[in-house]
Amino acid sequence: MTSLVASKQFWQLRSDLKKARELFKLTASLPRFFREKVSLSQAEEGIKRALENRNNTFLELARTQIYEYPRSPYLQLLRLVGCEFSDLCAHVHYHGLENTLRKLAMEGVYLTSDEFKGKKEVVRGGFSFRVCPGDFEFAISRPAFYFQSTGTKNKPVSTSTSLDWLSLRALGTAVFSSAHDLYSYSHALYDAILPANSLNHLLTNAKIGMRTERWFARRIPANNTLEKLYFRSVTYLIVLMGKRFGPNFPRPEFLSIQDIRRIVDWIAVEKRSGRNCYIITVASSAVRIAQMAWKLGVSLEGTKFNVAGEPFTEAKAKTIEKVGATSTSRYSYGGGNPVGFGCARPIHRDEIHVSQHLVAAISNAKPVPQVEEQIHPLLLTTLHSAAPRLLLNVENGDYVVTEERECGCALEKVGLKLHLHHIRSYEKFTSEGMNYFYGDLYELFEKVFPSEFGGEPGDYQLVEEEEHDGQTRLALKVHPSVDNLDESKLLERLRIALANGSRGNRFMTGVWQEAGSFKLKREIPHASPRGKILPLHISQPKIKLRAREG
Ligand SMILES: [Zn+2]
Repeated sequence: MTSLVASKQFWQLRSDLKKARELFKLTASLPRFFREKVSLSQAEEGIKRALENRNNTFLELARTQIYEYPRSPYLQLLRLVGCEFSDLCAHVHYHGLENTLRKLAMEGVYLTSDEFKGKKEVVRGGFSFRVCPGDFEFAISRPAFYFQSTGTKNKPVSTSTSLDWLSLRALGTAVFSSAHDLYSYSHALYDAILPANSLNHLLTNAKIGMRTERWFARRIPANNTLEKLYFRSVTYLIVLMGKRFGPNFPRPEFLSIQDIRRIVDWIAVEKRSGRNCYIITVASSAVRIAQMAWKLGVSLEGTKFNVAGEPFTEAKAKTIEKVGATSTSRYSYGGGNPVGFGCARPIHRDEIHVSQHLVAAISNAKPVPQVEEQIHPLLLTTLHSAAPRLLLNVENGDYVVTEERECGCALEKVGLKLHLHHIRSYEKFTSEGMNYFYGDLYELFEKVFPSEFGGEPGDYQLVEEEEHDGQTRLALKVHPSVDNLDESKLLERLRIALANGSRGNRFMTGVWQEAGSFKLKREIPHASPRGKILPLHISQPKIKLRAREG
């Protein structure tokens, strides 16, 4: 036991020292990062060049990071299917990168989301092993800082972002900004400070010479004092450096949900000065801003939201459009790996261009097992060593429709022809007999309930709580602002909807059919630290919550 504690302390110390070293490098490198801006023409050229060299870049990455790295989990999978480096080269050159990745996936060279996170053993044929997230990090040390996933469904995961990676990401941001005419807008960010990844947006904007006028921020609780100190100091360090060397760098202005009116006021002031506003945020927060504007009778005409973090549903989009605003989306994996940018001439609501210069995206021909409907998981592959992690056919829990089409927007003109849309999660919530698709709840809570019982997206939420006796109880939270609610009719409607379940998945009613195990609460639905209101909230056991608050 003692040696285990000592070992844990050793690894913690090693990780803290690594962070401190990288922070020192970061401080020294930031002035140059801000000075060397990326122009639109440089960005266009950079993407075109990267696309031309795509196959070779991937093969070089495979050679140095997989075939010359005996501990690589991908090497184990490739060896299992008898794919040596020369075979990989021949296949990529002859059949192309995506076809090679599809073939490898069919043979078993892929990782499910749970396998990648080390939550499940990788089992292929008679062979099995387990991975840990550190197996996928690049050994190259670059000036970087860390952020964390907010752990909505899983334990928070730390990811590093290097300045090299942000410089590469800036190429796509520049072309995306040109496609949507964003260089002429007033920019703001409404998202949390570190450990959330919103600094990435401020830094890439600065890299392309774009000023961000305001940073409306949310606070995120840290796990411990040391972590809190790290996140605070890095945030303020980057802000200070940005103010000194960047085009403009806003300080975070902390807002509670009740203060959201300040964002609407800012938009109104900018509009009076003849400027349209562009706000990067999560989808639920964009909806909340639109709801506030509606309540105040303020038109948001000319305002554009860039939303991500949750499925951008039709109901959310309609709430935003009701006040005259428009939206586009971005799509990333784990915050640090951008997958794509919203098309400027979309046919579908959530249509994005895949950043093919940085990532390869395919649908696995092998469907998700034990699901009646044919669902083909999205598989992602990293194409650059500056990325936070090396992915080779890794599932992220989503499935999509892929399509190559000539939309005519600036993103397509640089060669990013692959589009994704209808991005949905297939990861199921299974607890206490429940078994259903997460996506189904969006339809029910954002569209069906508001149209039948009143209210808007974000007003209904299913909450799973662990009570003192260890029993899991479900409650339907309904925002107190929903008037004249027929509670028993609503519960009956919920019961029927869940019992029928779509996609052939039946909701097992066992838990909440028991008397008293399912109730309705008139409370404001829970928002995650980043502001997301998910249709199902699973509250953490109280003991863990106390530890996080400390
Ligand atoms: Zn397009």
